[in-house]
Amino acid sequence: MSLLVLNAGSSSLKFSLFAEQEDALLLRQHGRVEELLGESRLVATDAAGVRVEDRAFGAPLGHGGATALLLARFLDHDGIALRAVGHRVVHGGSHHAAPVRVDAAVLADLDALVPLAPLHQPHNLAPMREIAARHPGLPQVACFDTAFHRTQPDLAQRYALPERITARGVHRYGFHGLSYEFVARRLADVDAAASRGRTVVLHLGNGASMCAMAAGRSVATTMGFTALEGLPMGTRSGSIDPGIVLYLMAQGLDARAIEHMLYHESGLLGVSGVASDMRVLEASADPRAALAIDFYCYRISRELGSLAAALGGLDALVFTAGIGENSVRVREAVCRQAAWLGLGFDAAANRRHGPCLSLPGSRVRAWVIPTDEELMIAGHTRDLVPA
Ligand code: ADP
Repeated sequence: MSLLVLNAGSSSLKFSLFAEQEDALLLRQHGRVEELLGESRLVATDAAGVRVEDRAFGAPLGHGGATALLLARFLDHDGIALRAVGHRVVHGGSHHAAPVRVDAAVLADLDALVPLAPLHQPHNLAPMREIAARHPGLPQVACFDTAFHRTQPDLAQRYALPERITARGVHRYGFHGLSYEFVARRLADVDAAASRGRTVVLHLGNGASMCAMAAGRSVATTMGFTALEGLPMGTRSGSIDPGIVLYLMAQGLDARAIEHMLYHESGLLGVSGVASDMRVLEASADPRAALAIDFYCYRISRELGSLAAALGGLDALVFTAGIGENSVRVREAVCRQAAWLGLGFDAAANRRHGPCLSLPGSRVRAWVIPTDEELMIAGHTRDLVPA
């Protein structure tokens, strides 16, 4: 039997097909339908990364059309026995603390959360609706980016706002939960003491956040009500004084213009004026590129102090996602700035990408653990849909 994982964004639908082999889940195919609203195109690679399909459609498929295309491709053409489809869903609200089987009531419930994540949630739900309509017998599972953080104490999930605003669901939800959950499980294999203790995981991709875990459970995280809070990211500002938004509104900018600036023109791109991509910044000779990297590492270090305080100390740091798994420079800067916490940094190991980045005997350990959100979703989907 196989499991299909779908991750729908605003303009692309990513997919991964896993085959069940005894207890293991093996990646068979990975790909995406891109330009969903333009000249759509399907690109797929096998587990070794070899391209197995590259097809242009010359017209927009939309989210529903792309979902129908993928299901027809696997079910009709490849004759695959699909056990279930797992979906990445950005928002599970305050009550979804675990993945759920999708039915009409769950779909309605998730639809009610659209105002909390208007840029992502509608896209996540479109493939579910398509499958429910065309293949009502095919089980579906929704896996949430917010769910992992529901173990946080009430204090960590609050803003200091009036109760009438809090009651409308304005809390800190946190994101990247599927990545943190995957890393928490892997950490148990490489550093059992840290996985039972106090760890800060740094998910540093185009989006970036950090999570404080006590015994593998989230107790605090840098992202909040939206995926805009916390660290500066590729093009997102991270935390800023909310007074800046009020100032810009008073100057005549409307909500859409401010939203565009905060989501798409800020962060590493905004500071550097060069690029949002860490590889490009690291290769650039422009002093503003170096400034952007320095600022990024400085903000990480400040948040690390805050999360270590929430944990009451620190046993390990874990780097993951594109920058965390690959950037020798960012890891070195962050680890050196964490010397005060008791981290003895091993520069040679860092150049080899670890996996252990700390010196023997270092009180705080540091690790590189590659994340795999799709595999996490496939595992949850299998667990919720009996064979
Ligand atoms: P997303 O959040 O879109 O999944 P990724 O986790 O793939 O993003 O991370 C993308 C980021 O990782 C980009 O800034 C990219 O430059 C960075 N990155 C990837 N490889 C390297 C590398 N070798 N050195 C530095 N940064 C890298």
